[in-house]
Amino acid sequence: MSVRVRYGPSPTGEPHVGNIRTALFDWFLARRLGGQFIVRIEDTDRSRAVEGTEQLILDALTWLGVDWDEGPDIGGQFGPYRQSERLPLYRDAADRLLADGKAYRCVCSSERLDALRKSQQQAKQPPGYDRRCRELGLGPDEPHVVRLAMPREGDTIVNDALRGGVSFQNALLDDHILLKRDGFPTYHLASVVDDHHMQITHVIRGDEWLSSAPRHVQTYTALGWDEPAWVHLPIIRGPDGAKLSKRHGATSVREYADQGFLPEALLNFLALLGWSKDETTTIMSRDEIVEAFGLDGLGLASAMFDLERLQEMNARYIRDLDPADFLRRGRPHLEARLGRPVDDDQLDALLGIAPAIQERVKLMPEFADYTDFFVVEGPLNYANTDLMGRAYKNKPWAALESVEASLQTLRALDESDWTAEPLEAALRELAETRGEKPGALFTPIRVATTGKRIAPPLFETLETLGQPKTIERLNAAAERLARPDD
Ligand code: GLU
Repeated sequence: MSVRVRYGPSPTGEPHVGNIRTALFDWFLARRLGGQFIVRIEDTDRSRAVEGTEQLILDALTWLGVDWDEGPDIGGQFGPYRQSERLPLYRDAADRLLADGKAYRCVCSSERLDALRKSQQQAKQPPGYDRRCRELGLGPDEPHVVRLAMPREGDTIVNDALRGGVSFQNALLDDHILLKRDGFPTYHLASVVDDHHMQITHVIRGDEWLSSAPRHVQTYTALGWDEPAWVHLPIIRGPDGAKLSKRHGATSVREYADQGFLPEALLNFLALLGWSKDETTTIMSRDEIVEAFGLDGLGLASAMFDLERLQEMNARYIRDLDPADFLRRGRPHLEARLGRPVDDDQLDALLGIAPAIQERVKLMPEFADYTDFFVVEGPLNYANTDLMGRAYKNKPWAALESVEASLQTLRALDESDWTAEPLEAALRELAETRGEKPGALFTPIRVATTGKRIAPPLFETLETLGQPKTIERLNAAAERLARPDD
């Protein structure tokens, strides 16, 4: 039988990285074992549904390079793939359980249930429904919910792939609701019915669902269905040990995308939150993860979301990009900075210097910092104090002399010598002849040509910028220094 795993997000907001980690693990397993990965939208809690989030969830998967074989947008053999469109299936299951005496109708009012909860709290008893309607054999006439008649004694064992048999005392599990008053199923019923009808073989989900698992096991038993394999992934924690939340910074996939993380880096990082290939391998492509993935690599040690590690991974992925690909991905950031499109020639002109920029960019929006000055026309914006640097602090006349000397040397260079090495040789020689520290000479050149104190390597920058633009910008700097009070 082929492996079938499902990702069952509820469309209640932007997909959270913890939730997407579950989707990834589902997908890795399906792809590893040549099975199917199914997206099923769990939208039966209508009060929590947020319009538009289903699409955001699908977009997040697509951005990460995850594809699905069946889902709400593409359908499939076991559709529909939105629970709100599958109500008759849940009703049928509830009717069967009612007919078999494994479920019952309950007409207790919310006031009664509230009072019950309060008295249980006061008496320090575990909360839960007291089964008042269980033996009444109520018919369908009055508004009612349907509850599962859970066993009152003994234990329910959940065979979890990571934990082995986890035992739950039945006396502590109340008769939970399967079908609500409005005819909608609860998550407990819908997920079991769907997992059965969709022939799901492995339920992989966060361990916040482990406590619900005995209810699901009992529902399978009551319906006479085979259980899937249960895999409850360790909770993702922030560096302070608390469950990952907004408090720890960005938590939605979109926020990470907007901040400039590459999908490959985020995917690699999330894959290691609860799974590893071995003790040492950390950098793995999507294909390598799929190749190595298996339940045996999952661990219970809580998965720590270490942002620094993600940042390092991102920098590493950026460094390793093919330069043309790097430029293509950087382009929207540069265009956003400039507020206009950048043409292909301008982008191609950066191919040579791209690897040096890749060394420096940690998050993709920084791409604009390292490239905008190559494509802007007209004067650059910078402070004269930056131009003078530390060596010529408060000495504009000395800075001017230095810039003029550089100008002379750079003007004299043959066009054919306008590449990084000869440029470096000429400028270093100039510094030496002038008895000036190289840094003192280079700072005004860097700021004059890039408008920044921090920029890509100077000689490659000048090479890329070209002789005419370099000279033009140094002239502009000399003019500023000549009238320092402006
Ligand atoms: N709808 C649930 C969630 O959003 C899915 C839980 C499950 O996978 O069973 O977490």
